[in-house]
Amino acid sequence: MHRNRAADSPLELRLFQGFLVAAAMVSLMRHDFGLLSLSSTLLTVVAELGYEKLTAIQAQSIPVLLQGKDLIGQSKTGSGKTAAFALPILEKLDMEKRSLKALVLCPSRELSAQVAREIRKLGRRHPGLQVLVVSGGEPFRRQASALERGVHIVVGTPGRILDHLRRRTIRFHTVKAVVLDEADRMLDMGFHDDMEQILRALPETRQTVFFSATFPGTIEAMSRTFQHDAVRVTIDDPVEAAPDIRQLLLTTDSDKKLHDLRWLLANHPHESALIFCNLKVTVRELTQTLSSGGVSADCIHGDLEQFERNRVMARFRNQSVRILIATDVAARGIDVADLDLVINYDLPSQPEIYIHRIGRTGRAGKQGLAISLTTLREKPKIKAIEKLTGSGLEPLVRDASFDVGVETLSKALERDAQMETIQISGGRREKIRPGDILGALTGETGGLSASDIGKIEIHDRLSYVAVSKTISQDAVESLNEGFIKGKRFRASLLR
Ligand code: AMP
Repeated sequence: MHRNRAADSPLELRLFQGFLVAAAMVSLMRHDFGLLSLSSTLLTVVAELGYEKLTAIQAQSIPVLLQGKDLIGQSKTGSGKTAAFALPILEKLDMEKRSLKALVLCPSRELSAQVAREIRKLGRRHPGLQVLVVSGGEPFRRQASALERGVHIVVGTPGRILDHLRRRTIRFHTVKAVVLDEADRMLDMGFHDDMEQILRALPETRQTVFFSATFPGTIEAMSRTFQHDAVRVTIDDPVEAAPDIRQLLLTTDSDKKLHDLRWLLANHPHESALIFCNLKVTVRELTQTLSSGGVSADCIHGDLEQFERNRVMARFRNQSVRILIATDVAARGIDVADLDLVINYDLPSQPEIYIHRIGRTGRAGKQGLAISLTTLREKPKIKAIEKLTGSGLEPLVRDASFDVGVETLSKALERDAQMETIQISGGRREKIRPGDILGALTGETGGLSASDIGKIEIHDRLSYVAVSKTISQDAVESLNEGFIKGKRFRASLLR
């Protein structure tokens, strides 16, 4: 039988790997990551992840943070700020002892999970790296025992971290760096006192990093109290905040809004769209109305339990749900790579929130589309947004095509999601990896074709796998009848 020669020969394999690393290094030298004094391990990871050029915030922050200085930086969602602070933390991480070296405070559970994911991604070549999410809504005891076993980096919400501090289940004496991510949002959420208590409890000698979209007086005051000679990093160009996003504006009336939203969705083809409303009640009503009309839509808002949010987000990320409707609080930290449409069903009260919302589309070099519905009374809000973004919103002209009836629009929108999500009753705890699930579904055991399997997400005690609708029942049966890692797990369809 013909065998793969490279895999047979350790020397050739080593040379080949060496070549890959060298190629990655050469490509980095041409771009700016190579100019940073990061270890070859981290440069390789960055190349593997396909990050070619430093973002503005990274170019300005990483050298400062590597020098160990304090920093107060202006950052926006999608600016690459997580890597901006995570790379220096990983660069300096002493892995020898499993003691807490860095603490990252975030305003929400979702953002904490997203930041932890990004750090784990960047730390994939740090064997044994332990990054723990410590946020509310999840069992305290489980977090306490993970902390007891020892972790290098904790990412979490101030309230829960403070609970651990009070109950002495977390200890700060080994912490070398603290990051306050989206500091202004944490203040909005009422975390001011908790943030201060945490900062006071940390060793004096630690490095302190603030990232924030805005700098209200309270943040300036906290910076003066808790930082030493902090370097300030601001991104001057306001357009940078919205990289390549086409921003449209449709003037409507409150009684025409729903009709116009259907028209927008029908006339702007999308795989994944996010719709923002200002109120929970609007989110619920809109989801109900669209879903009952056969549109693949779901929602997240503050009243959902954590497991319900995880489930909705997993289904949205893996394209089992095409439209997600959300409030700002719930949508914080939504981490979806390919979002091609953001709609503001209601305009936000502050222009900064507008930038935050639309920044979720147009990532990774692709052009994004953001459409806002507005009524004539909201002119001042539009003015404020245009002032902040430094550019005008493009008006959508209401032509005859808007006159179609609701049935026609509903028909056009009925295209359902192609994928469906299966929940499996085991996850990281059971040492399940994506390959194990793929293996159980495909090949001789599962009999399904890999092209019918979509994104696989492993959580602590659960996993989600997206499969084509056409084979979803077969997939559930084969998972329930078969084994993963030699064990049986329960599989069921999420609808
Ligand atoms: P963040 O602003 O930290 O939420 O990052 C936004 C997204 O950009 C994340 O999905 C990162 O993985 C990605 N990213 C971060 N840095 C870079 C880079 N230099 N080039 C390309 N993508 C990046």
